[in-house]
Amino acid sequence: MASETGTPNRNLLGLSRDELEQLALTCGEPRYRGRQIYQGIYARRQRDFASLTDLDQGFRQKLSAHYGVAYPEVQAEFVSRDGAVRYLLRLEDGSLTESVYMPEEDRSTLCLSSQVGCALACRFCFTALLGAKRDLTAGEIVGQVLAMVEAQRIPRRARLNVVFMGMGEPLLNLRPVMKAVTILADQDGLGLPLRRITISTAGIVPRIPELAREPMRPKLAISLNASTEEQRTALMPLNRKYPLSALLRACRAYPLRPREHLTFEYVLLDGVNDSDLDAVRVAELLRGIRAKVNLIPYNPGPELPYRPSPLERVMALQQVLTGQQVPAFIRISRGQDVHAACGQLSLAG
Ligand code: SAH
Repeated sequence: MASETGTPNRNLLGLSRDELEQLALTCGEPRYRGRQIYQGIYARRQRDFASLTDLDQGFRQKLSAHYGVAYPEVQAEFVSRDGAVRYLLRLEDGSLTESVYMPEEDRSTLCLSSQVGCALACRFCFTALLGAKRDLTAGEIVGQVLAMVEAQRIPRRARLNVVFMGMGEPLLNLRPVMKAVTILADQDGLGLPLRRITISTAGIVPRIPELAREPMRPKLAISLNASTEEQRTALMPLNRKYPLSALLRACRAYPLRPREHLTFEYVLLDGVNDSDLDAVRVAELLRGIRAKVNLIPYNPGPELPYRPSPLERVMALQQVLTGQQVPAFIRISRGQDVHAACGQLSLAG
């Protein structure tokens, strides 16, 4: 994307409605022209200003001369035998990130990254091996959705879920993530229902009340993964800074909307955190919280020392939890054969 003068055109992807209205004013156009660009880019998924036929031709040409709409570029796609597709996406500065498309019968799920790499160093997660690279911008987050929608030719009326469960810790990049969520959920934006968007956090405790105050608040999932402070610190070093006790206090104070619940994810590691006693303790920890638990069998890989719990262990934990009135579900991750499953996003080629 370059103008005739050779300077690169400015990418408008990720700009809010306000920012695009400002841009229209700067170009000497009325404010509402900004909203038309906004609808064109996000709701109508156009990336060529020439197709924004509700703008007059002079303005379209002016836009094309100085601006562009560039999605992250699909560098490679890896199709799992279960239908999930892992996308390796190249960003404008050459960094790579990953997103996953998971088709289901009545709706599909898009799993997005919030950062390149991750700083948290969870012992069982392959993204951690990359270390922290950088935060993604709102445009790069929305761009993951648009790149997958385009690659998969997903029609506008299709029902989609979006989960921030790819690379990175969304609550360490909260402003850009929320800016992207606003565009995704806005009626003039991509128009996804807010209750179909979920942010997952490893537990950045002070950001939880911040998220609670957001006017466009998606659903929240917490990666619990352990039943005691010691066990959690051994698996997730951030537990030293934000202990389980403080995390659960923040969860108890979280203002859930009617019918909303918190989801707790629990990766099952053979012989580490998968005993019946672990399940009893988890039920105890979650008492008084409107919660459900997703039990995720560990997705293995050669670089890490853990093994997945046998299925009968997974089922035993589910039984103990439901017996204690904690709804628990088994989540077999999809896309394991192409490194697309939970915790496996590590830019494998
Ligand atoms: N940083 C955020 C977002 C990533 S979500 C968070 O931690 O919630 C990725 C989910 O996959 C987390 O619930 C994490 O606990 C889980 N996970 C990480 N490594 C895994 C692995 N090897 N197998 C299964 N799940 C894993």
